[in-house]
Amino acid sequence: MANPAILTVDDDPAVSRAVARDVRRRYGDRYRVVRADSGEAALAALREIKLRGEQVAVILADYRMPVMNGIQFLESAMDLFPRARRVLLTAYADTDAAIDAINIVDLDHYLLKPWDPPEEKLYPVLDNLLEVWAATPDISATETRVIGHRWSAPSFAVRDFLARNLVPFRWLLADEPEGGRLLAAADLSPADVPVVITSDGKALAMPSESDLASHVGLSTTPASDFYDVIVVGAGPAGLGAAVYAASEGLRTVLVEQRATGGQAGQSSRIENYLGFPEGVSGAQLTDRARRQALKFGAEILSTREVVGLEAAGTARLLRFGDGTSLAAHAAVLATGVAYRRLDAPGLSDLTGRGVFYGSAATEAPSCSGEDVYIVGGANSAGQAALHFARYARRVHILIRGASLTSSMSRYLIEQVEREPCITVHPRTEVVGGYGDDHLETLTLCDRSTGATRTVKTSWLFVFIGAEPRTNWLEGVVSRDERGFIVTGPALLRDGQRPAGWSLPRDPYHLESSLPGVFAAGDVRADSVKRVASAVGEGAMAVTVVHRYLEAQ
Ligand SMILES: Cc1cc2nc3c(=O)[nH]c(=O)nc-3n(C[C@H](O)[C@H](O)[C@H](O)COP(=O)(O)OP(=O)(O)OC[C@H]3O[C@@H](n4cnc5c(N)ncnc54)[C@H](O)[C@@H]3O)c2cc1C
Repeated sequence: MANPAILTVDDDPAVSRAVARDVRRRYGDRYRVVRADSGEAALAALREIKLRGEQVAVILADYRMPVMNGIQFLESAMDLFPRARRVLLTAYADTDAAIDAINIVDLDHYLLKPWDPPEEKLYPVLDNLLEVWAATPDISATETRVIGHRWSAPSFAVRDFLARNLVPFRWLLADEPEGGRLLAAADLSPADVPVVITSDGKALAMPSESDLASHVGLSTTPASDFYDVIVVGAGPAGLGAAVYAASEGLRTVLVEQRATGGQAGQSSRIENYLGFPEGVSGAQLTDRARRQALKFGAEILSTREVVGLEAAGTARLLRFGDGTSLAAHAAVLATGVAYRRLDAPGLSDLTGRGVFYGSAATEAPSCSGEDVYIVGGANSAGQAALHFARYARRVHILIRGASLTSSMSRYLIEQVEREPCITVHPRTEVVGGYGDDHLETLTLCDRSTGATRTVKTSWLFVFIGAEPRTNWLEGVVSRDERGFIVTGPALLRDGQRPAGWSLPRDPYHLESSLPGVFAAGDVRADSVKRVASAVGEGAMAVTVVHRYLEAQ
């Protein structure tokens, strides 16, 4: 991080140079001396420093400057750096200025020009102010900062996107002093949030995910227009395929619409993945896989949704939402599943404002001391309940069935049962939600009696009915009645190959009804919905891609 700044501002160039020179001589090794020749220029410099997340220790301002005098300048400077120590320079004793300065800007020192010799008149003052400042430095950092409203779906989407892509950031409310100061520094207002201040000081108001991706160092455009293999979806299956394909020398691009990790990236602790006896967080596991894929030379494109697939001769062409396309000899579809929406009245408007699909890890600390409701009885819901139990007053798991035994692994049921603040509500479903600014109440129905009751809560996390999002493959590859991609021997009907199949061989394992297009992981019909099997299928898909390429 850059050294903290000492800012000097004086409209007389000779005085400005002299003060900067004297300050630099004594403090230049520990502080950056920033010089400005007007109040406006100094404020612009302070705004830039603020956006970069750096600190200002002391501000020395001349009193008599045109347009904006020293006190007016210090007043505005305080909005940006309230803890910077403040010194006013005057040419002669000006009692009115001194009184104003003390009353308006809580001045630390009033310095008469000239200050020769500095060893006697300037340095002792600055030594003392720097000591005071260092004891209570600004809380700032060069990390990414997000300024938003507490209950705002777009603000949540930005935080969720950064968290899932493992970009560290600091979250600030627009109506908190520091959030307000950053908005002012960027010349923005609370109406412009969410605002992201990148680590290099750029302010992005209401950024799209692709804007955000490119500013936080995620790649969004391919380096080439033709690859050996395109992998769609960067969950465990896609990451597995990319690692094996790239490590085996195939020119590989992995395309992800949102964040690497897929569903696994949302898991707070995966305990049944081989080789991690203590468990591993999904974020950690998938970040390692992402780095491994990059190390072997795979390209990873973020925020690129694939919306179409077609055969162009022997090439397989994938189209993106923005109309551009990418071609390869083969494709691996590893697009997984997404949670079904809960369609009880009132809930859809509250998505991102108290109603969340998946675990929304960024929200957990905000649930402190409150009641949290989780819908779903599978492992994902169990893990989320255990995670939220570390923060919430009480966690309620709502399930339609009589117990968790048919849907959740035994080891998780035992942990849920041991946790005193988790209550499982069998045969219970959400039939309504209400909230003005955000979720305030839920209406629950007891399925055995039909009785309904209303509970107060601001937090509902939904983990139900994962379904594939494969409509874009309609008419291109065979899918089952629920949209999962049918592969390999399952494509044969009474020994007959699928309609339109052009090759004198049966489809390989994991191969779809379009030769050269493979499916791996949760999106594949009859797949085992587990991290290990998804990774395994990703690796196996690469073996069949090799076989396919050799026969071409
Ligand atoms: C909270 C949670 C906890 C879990 N815990 C465990 C556990 O402990 N143990 C276990 O074995 N399993 C667990 N699972 C299940 C496991 O995570 C999944 O089985 C696994 O992630 C499936 O991997 P996948 O790569 O097939 O699909 P996904 O993980 O679903 O990844 C698919 C990816 O494809 C992307 N994508 C989709 N469509 C497109 C498109 N058109 N263009 C570009 N990209 C696209 C998605 O954004 C996503 O990133 C858990 C799941 C959840 C949600």
